Amino acid sequence: MKLRLHFVVDPMGWFCISTVLLIWLYNTLLIPKLVLFPHYAEGHIPAAPVVCYYLASLLCVSALLRASTADPGKLAQDPKIPIAERDNWELCNKCNLMRPKRSHHCSRCGHCVRRMDHHCPWINNCVGEDNHWLFLQLCFYTQVLSLYTLVLDFCQYYYFQPVSSVDREDFAVRHELALIRVSCLTGLMMFGGMGSLFYSQVTGILEDTTTIEKMSNLMEDIGLRRSWQQAMAEVFGTRWKILWFLPFRSRQPLMLNLTSRSRV
Ligand SMILES: [Zn+2]
Ligand SMILES: [Zn+2]
Repeated sequence: MKLRLHFVVDPMGWFCISTVLLIWLYNTLLIPKLVLFPHYAEGHIPAAPVVCYYLASLLCVSALLRASTADPGKLAQDPKIPIAERDNWELCNKCNLMRPKRSHHCSRCGHCVRRMDHHCPWINNCVGEDNHWLFLQLCFYTQVLSLYTLVLDFCQYYYFQPVSSVDREDFAVRHELALIRVSCLTGLMMFGGMGSLFYSQVTGILEDTTTIEKMSNLMEDIGLRRSWQQAMAEVFGTRWKILWFLPFRSRQPLMLNLTSRSRV
């Protein structure tokens, strides 16, 4: 797998992504320690929920780190423009470089990005043609992890039997109620925020419109209707649906990209 890491120098972005990582770390440490391990040790739950929680957590943080450090589709300094596509390129008046139409200049990153959707401070990176699939995975796995966390928080109070083998002097056990409340609050924030973001991203992909185009009213009818499978396959770079869920791979554009993406 060819990895080209991309880091954006932006203190505001560093603050935002650190906050997200802290929320992830808090729940990934707290839920197994306070809920999963004690109940597993006393035989109240099987091993599967523990493994699933760590798997959801791993996929979530992998999607976050990859979306944050992947090249979103930065334009080359000296691009080779195919003759047949010359009409679909234009000059950026900010960085003075040729770029395909539907690219956008990101003032935070200081360069143009192919088919840029938006700049996301929470991943401290642009969301563009090459990392849009990772951003979608991040929205999806964050919803899975936060919903799972909320269900476990709920079960801890209203469903699970009290555990007898925990150390009552342990800090986390003594402050269990407050810690679980914080976990619920972060879970609700993440689930609500990512749910609405995921919905707007998916509708944008199905309508073949980016967030920037929606905001600047550049939406237009392209007359080319695609199935949802085809629209998603283009974003993820593969028709294999199982691969849509894997952040541990590199994306190659589908060949049909070259012929169908020519609108302004
Ligand atoms: Zn530019
Ligand atoms: Zn940017």
